[in-house]
Amino acid sequence: MKLTRPSEVRALLDRLQFKPSKLLGQNFLIDGNILNILLEAADLSPHDRVLEIGPGLGVVTEALLEKTGHVVAIEKDSRLAAHVERTLGQTPGLDLIHRDATDVDLDQLLREQRLNKLVANLPYSVGSRILVDCFQAQTPPERIVVTVQKEVADRLAAGVNTSDYGLLSIWAQLDYTVSLHKVISPACFYPPPQIRSAIVLMVKKARTLDVRDPDLFNRLVKAAFSARRKQIQTTLQKFAPPERLPGIFAATGLTPTQRPESIPVIQWCRLANELG
Ligand code: SAM
Repeated sequence: MKLTRPSEVRALLDRLQFKPSKLLGQNFLIDGNILNILLEAADLSPHDRVLEIGPGLGVVTEALLEKTGHVVAIEKDSRLAAHVERTLGQTPGLDLIHRDATDVDLDQLLREQRLNKLVANLPYSVGSRILVDCFQAQTPPERIVVTVQKEVADRLAAGVNTSDYGLLSIWAQLDYTVSLHKVISPACFYPPPQIRSAIVLMVKKARTLDVRDPDLFNRLVKAAFSARRKQIQTTLQKFAPPERLPGIFAATGLTPTQRPESIPVIQWCRLANELG
């Protein structure tokens, strides 16, 4: 059946007597053009090993399986997992995991299954969390193509000195070139969500500067952005004795009165390395 045809998706949901859950972000993709845009951005080859979170009715999963060798799909909803098992379970290369993705050790999964891409229409409520887990994995995906709510897309792609620039931008842009690929209208999903979505494309890049202590880096940016109006000198008082601060400012080229949103990703790396 053609899952990009709204009438067929509605008929399938009726047949399954399935009422989509808002809580689980069950808005199914019903637009063939958007599916193609997502797949093209993923730049798939038979050698790819893809992670998908939330296969739902399997529209993206099926297309991924046609183009790649291996797909690991994690679905929380029992009835949707059973549906995907019934319809696609015999397809070679599909590994369906019926679990809450936030309970899965994504770091271990990416590593052990050698997954090199993440392609998904992410459930809204856990989208950011899943992305951060992937960014911080030991072997992060080399390419990430995901649909997220537009506000999250804006934060992922935000540049310095904008109101959207924050933790998510820094964590994403540390290792990825991030671009807002396509804004999607609610009408492309059934049922239509109340918010706009966007496809974000993230391509892994070589780091210009290595972060020596990732834990310190994370604590530093979290502390700084916990109060966006706070000057960086105030945050740094928690990380270094006062006599070290002038040297740190001189070495990083930062000024004590700068606000966190004016500090580019590379400067955060320098700062964390100076503090370490
Ligand atoms: N991939 C399908 C599509 O494009 O039509 C469905 C996408 S829908 C936006 C999100 C999917 O994620 C749903 O199937 C939902 O049941 C599933 N989901 C929600 N929360 C989840 C979680 N914590 N772990 C795994 N799957 C989840």
